[in-house]
Amino acid sequence: MKLTIVPFASVAANLPREIARRVRTVLPWKLVVSSTLPDPQPDGPATTLDAGQVLSLLPSSVRHDELTVGLLGLDLSAAGLDYVFGYAAPERRAAVVSLARLMAGTVGRRGGRRLLVERSAKEVLHETGHLMGLEHCDHPQCVMHYSQVLQDTDIKGCGYCARCLKELSRLPEAPSER
Ligand SMILES: [Zn+2]
Ligand SMILES: [Zn+2]
Repeated sequence: MKLTIVPFASVAANLPREIARRVRTVLPWKLVVSSTLPDPQPDGPATTLDAGQVLSLLPSSVRHDELTVGLLGLDLSAAGLDYVFGYAAPERRAAVVSLARLMAGTVGRRGGRRLLVERSAKEVLHETGHLMGLEHCDHPQCVMHYSQVLQDTDIKGCGYCARCLKELSRLPEAPSER
C-alpha cells in the first residue's frame, strides 16, 4: 500500500513530514509527502471549506493500493456539521484532515509541537482506516473511535485496536487494477 500526504499551504512546512513519520510507525506502508498545493478559497461568505471542494483538488488515484490524504490548516465542514477533523471519500480513495482545531493549546507550549503531530497522525490514521473500509469502533482507545471534540482525539491512542487491525489485515491487499 502507498499513502500520499498532500499538504496545503496553510500547513506549516516540515509538519507533514513529521506527521508522515509518525503514521509510518503504525502503518508500515510506503509514505510519500507530495509538493504543497495552494489553499482553496471558501465559496461565498463561508469561512470554512467544504470537504467535497477540498477533495476535488486532490489527485485521485485509479489504483486500489494508493491512497491520498490532504492536510489542511483551515477549518473544514462536511455532512451538515460546522466542522470536522477529517473527511474520507473511499470511492475516491482520498481523504482530508484539518489541522485548524488540532492546534488548540499546542502553540508556544512545551511539547506542543509533538502533541500537534500526535493528534494529526491520529486523524490521518482514522481517515485512512475509513479509506480501507473500517467503520467507527467502540473501543475508546482505538484510533477508529469517533472524535467529536478534541478531547476524544486526545483520549484515543495512536493505533488501531486488535479487532480493527485484524480487519485491516484481512482487507485484500487490493489488486492494482489500472
Ligand atoms: Zn470517522
Ligand atoms: Zn478499533
